[in-house]
Amino acid sequence: MTKIKVAINGFGTIGKRVAEAIQLMPDMELIGVVKTRPDYLARMIVRNGLKLYVPEDKLNTFKETGIEPHGVLQDLLREAEVVVDATPGGVGAKYKEIYEKYGIKVIFQGGEKPFVAKKSFSSLCNLEECIGSESLRVVSCNTTALLRLICTLNKYFKIKKVRATIIRRAADPKEDKRGPVDSIKLNPAEIPSHHAEDVKTVLPWLDILTTAFIVPTTLMHVHSVYIVFENNVDRKDIIESLRSTKRILLLDTESTGIDSTAKIIEAARDLGRKRHDIPELVIWKNTIYAHENELWLVQAVHQESIVVPENIDAIRAIVSSPNVHKTIELTDEILGLGKFI
Ligand code: NAD
Repeated sequence: MTKIKVAINGFGTIGKRVAEAIQLMPDMELIGVVKTRPDYLARMIVRNGLKLYVPEDKLNTFKETGIEPHGVLQDLLREAEVVVDATPGGVGAKYKEIYEKYGIKVIFQGGEKPFVAKKSFSSLCNLEECIGSESLRVVSCNTTALLRLICTLNKYFKIKKVRATIIRRAADPKEDKRGPVDSIKLNPAEIPSHHAEDVKTVLPWLDILTTAFIVPTTLMHVHSVYIVFENNVDRKDIIESLRSTKRILLLDTESTGIDSTAKIIEAARDLGRKRHDIPELVIWKNTIYAHENELWLVQAVHQESIVVPENIDAIRAIVSSPNVHKTIELTDEILGLGKFI
């Protein structure tokens, strides 16, 4: 089998996780990773036998610290079929020109403005439409979570409108300069928040409004989601439909005792999940409340890993012509999704 040659630019929270996932995929080859700073991650890349590439003007900085890069960014772009840009939000747009110059396909992340890529991407919603695109943008962690829920339900029950309150983590665990430390902050200080617009980059027809707050935690986001359907829904049918995908975990608080993000993360640690990653969207089953045509539930989002499966699907969609069902199934199987407690 000819493997898809993938490069990664930006090896932080998202980049390093996507890199590991690519290495597990039977149809993909991670041919190199771009770093801009000679920190411990650069040493780890070399130690793990991966090829490290750097921007041309950083070559000497790396060499001076004893790290010998395999080459410069341009060398890698010449060889790769697709680059996953996981640089900080807004930085990907600055690379767009160089990616275009090398005629390479690109997967951008949710921190980029939607227009940076040809299409915004969410596996369970629009994988088929994205096949063969020149560039895709895997939407942010919160948007990926909302879209997984909405598109799974909308397959079975016609959605009329969605209203969601997003309680955002203040920072990722490694981010020691961000806050708030002791406040609940409006983010943004208006309704609707930008998350609704981001959902609409994938589902333009959807009536959705969102509001968002930042709270002092690093582990996960939590969403309180209220959905109105065209017709009456039954709680049992809702649960059945949510079980149709391995990208959603239904957690029973009564049988597991897990009623907080801290306990979800602890369970992931106990289960041996690397870095306590939970790429699945977690829905607390006991919160699922259905009455006539209304549904209300609470879900938790591990921001550092939820977009990893979508990045893998996006790579296949952009480079080959995968069967939608099979590519999602392959990603889920290899990443071991859906096996929690
Ligand atoms: P990060 O800061 O953890 O990682 C970014 C990496 O890019 C770092 O290693 C940094 O050194 C490197 N970098 C900085 N400038 C660079 C440059 N000019 N060229 C190449 N590399 C450069 O960021 P992240 O959290 O991984 O976010 C990456 C993207 O993923 C952003 O668009 C973000 O919005 C999106 N995203 C983040 C999360 C999250 O919770 N962390 C979730 C979903 C999506």
